[in-house]
Amino acid sequence: MFILFGWSRQPKDQWKKTMYCDECQTPAAAVGSRIARSITIQGVPVLPLRSEWMVQCSICSSSWTIAKGEWLELASDAIAVEHVEREARIAEVNRRSSLPPDLIGWIEHFESEKWLLLDNSDISAEFWKETGGDRVHRLSITVGDDGSLTNRRKWKERAEG
Ligand SMILES: [Zn+2]
Repeated sequence: MFILFGWSRQPKDQWKKTMYCDECQTPAAAVGSRIARSITIQGVPVLPLRSEWMVQCSICSSSWTIAKGEWLELASDAIAVEHVEREARIAEVNRRSSLPPDLIGWIEHFESEKWLLLDNSDISAEFWKETGGDRVHRLSITVGDDGSLTNRRKWKERAEG
């Protein structure tokens, strides 16, 4: 049977408040969202991954990921948004072109081996690959200052149904 693997980013726990936006240089309504990420099988989320804590400017649509603690602090005196738009799309902030070339090189290397990029920082990246069973392969890499891999960890995770 053909099993369709994928991953989803679902906005949750949203709030709104007026904040100063560095990008459009104005005080603007900003929306904070916790983005729950998970690996999906046949479109159904089965494996929760680390959440992203984001703030998005409602005027210029710029968005940022911020630390969880900072996000919660901002949320504490914000106006809660009760209805989360299920199809809301949050702009990606980690654009590939702004990443260090060495990291892009390693990401492309592993993508050529059919690894799918899940997440990355400026020095690290996480991938997954289906196994054909109820488990997924995961791969985590860290790139050092000299461009070499300083850490490479591979493991299997059960995709709980
Ligand atoms: Zn803005």
